[in-house]
Amino acid sequence: MESVRDNLEFSLEAWPEAGIECDFALPPNVLSEALKLDPEEGETPRLLTSMRGHLSLALAGNKLRVRGFFAVKLELVCHRCLAPFTGRLDDKFDDTVQIAGTGDEDEDALSGLVPLRGQVFDLTPLMAEFFWLAWPYKALCRPDCAGLCPDCGANLNEGPCFCEGSGPTRH
Ligand SMILES: [Zn+2]
Ligand SMILES: [Zn+2]
Repeated sequence: MESVRDNLEFSLEAWPEAGIECDFALPPNVLSEALKLDPEEGETPRLLTSMRGHLSLALAGNKLRVRGFFAVKLELVCHRCLAPFTGRLDDKFDDTVQIAGTGDEDEDALSGLVPLRGQVFDLTPLMAEFFWLAWPYKALCRPDCAGLCPDCGANLNEGPCFCEGSGPTRH
């Protein structure tokens, strides 16, 4: 039976020739920290579940190819009506990074450097990057969200506001 990792720290020591395949579930507090969010301060997105996914790692020299997918449930804020709603963020990723401190770093060819502590490197910050790459610029609570009345600020998903009918038609 495969175990699910709750951290993304890997050691170069005894690295398997065939690479590493694993499932993971990063707890919300760990991911929040990597995302540099402070849930205590009410910073969004609020993560409602662990970030679950699969990782496939292949090492060639100091270049590490990182492939897989993730999914996480979170509380989003609708771009139109500003109401919080529960959404799901998921994505596939395929990136090649370089393990830093292993010699001949090749600055141009690769998108990132992963620091090495002893023989251990942590892919949590990279997962945070993948998270932000998948982040919806304009999340909507539903595709036909009616938004807020520009005059009185009422949430028009809950019905027409009192501005309607009085004065020029706005809605
Ligand atoms: Zn909305
Ligand atoms: Zn109104």
